[in-house]
Amino acid sequence: MPNINEKELNELRESLLTYKKQLQHEIHDELIREGSSSAISLAGKVHDKQEESLSEMLTEINLAMLSQHQHELKNLERALQRMNEGEYGTCIDCDAPIAIARLQAYPTAVRCISCQAKHEQA
Ligand SMILES: [Zn+2]
Repeated sequence: MPNINEKELNELRESLLTYKKQLQHEIHDELIREGSSSAISLAGKVHDKQEESLSEMLTEINLAMLSQHQHELKNLERALQRMNEGEYGTCIDCDAPIAIARLQAYPTAVRCISCQAKHEQA
């Protein structure tokens, strides 16, 4: 990782770990919320039709958030793993170093800006 010095790497690791804790906390809450809303509808406590569709909508939003957060957590763990392997900060597509400013803004980035743009178009 010639483009990142040790101090920067430690800071990036710190922000990844902080973010990871935050994500795990949110996923935990979402799982509890999901569990309790299914439990409520299973118990037949939601009688009102309007209430029912509202609760379904909230469940859907919650599930979308949950899968988004689980996806982010996966990216995060991948970034931490690449850090341990000394591959962090290297583009997985073209092997070029990823700009430090990009990593500081998106610590989970695995591609340089131009490869990311190509990847998103594909
Ligand atoms: Zn690249």
